[in-house]
Amino acid sequence: MPQLGFGVWQVPDAEAEQAVGTALEAGYRSIDTAAIYGNETGTGKALAASGLPREELFVTTKLWNSDQGYDATLRAFDDSLGKLGLDHVDLYLIHWPVPNKDAYVDTYRAFEKILADGRARAIGVSNFHPEHLERLIAETSVVPAVNQIELHPQLQQAAAREVHARHGIATEAWSPLGQGRGLLEVPAIVAIAQKHARTPAQIVLRWHVQVGNVVIPKSVTPSRIRENIAVFDFELDAEDMAGLTALDEGRRLGPDPAEFHVGA
Ligand code: NAD
Repeated sequence: MPQLGFGVWQVPDAEAEQAVGTALEAGYRSIDTAAIYGNETGTGKALAASGLPREELFVTTKLWNSDQGYDATLRAFDDSLGKLGLDHVDLYLIHWPVPNKDAYVDTYRAFEKILADGRARAIGVSNFHPEHLERLIAETSVVPAVNQIELHPQLQQAAAREVHARHGIATEAWSPLGQGRGLLEVPAIVAIAQKHARTPAQIVLRWHVQVGNVVIPKSVTPSRIRENIAVFDFELDAEDMAGLTALDEGRRLGPDPAEFHVGA
């Protein structure tokens, strides 16, 4: 899985083809969408129009909460594949655990069938707390390849990362730029950016890369799409990393997955 990919949450379907097309031209090969984003069709059009060989692309989509359950999952997966215009995805994720619905284990059994049938090359989860992960691992056969969770310098998720590392699960960071809301103006980040003659977004993304997170920044602005992938030609030193690590406040921008039931 590429360590840096392109996220398309809040990109309308009509704009997705152009945004994903710009990202593919800029060198991104991994695209993160979801059924609930409503842009699998536009994303699929950009993948087809790129002319890139399928094996060079890494496509992730996610199952929405209201489709959890064994049979509903299989139907929702068919629908996603159809919209994307693909015969397989590279990674399929359960979007949220929705613990009060108590269906994520059955849902994941359908994921295991999709994996066995070769229609997803890997399966995983998103927004799973360690307790949800531990239950899933105890009750099913395939350890999730990935847990995609909210993660940025103000919410560094050390405990979750430790659990993931113990099980060999990759940590994928959603809202890696803190949704561009305030994080990129934090004086410590601006100072490190000036020191390296880079932008604050590049500093934050480079921090993720050096921590070992998979990152999927989103933008619809071509210059920013290009800027966000240009983070592999410089390095943060120990002092920079320590300055960024000191910004952890345990502050969520999104909901706590233990309580998120919308659309379930
Ligand atoms: P993000 O942290 O990637 O921030 C995106 C915003 O930051 C942009 O809309 C823009 O306002 C700003 N921005 C982007 N590049 C910039 C730059 N170079 N300079 C200045 N500002 C810049 O936020 P996100 O979209 O929430 O997260 C990224 C992806 O993660 C999503 O698109 C989606 O694919 C995924 N995601 C998943 C979940 C989940 O529940 N699994 C939840 C949220 C997001």
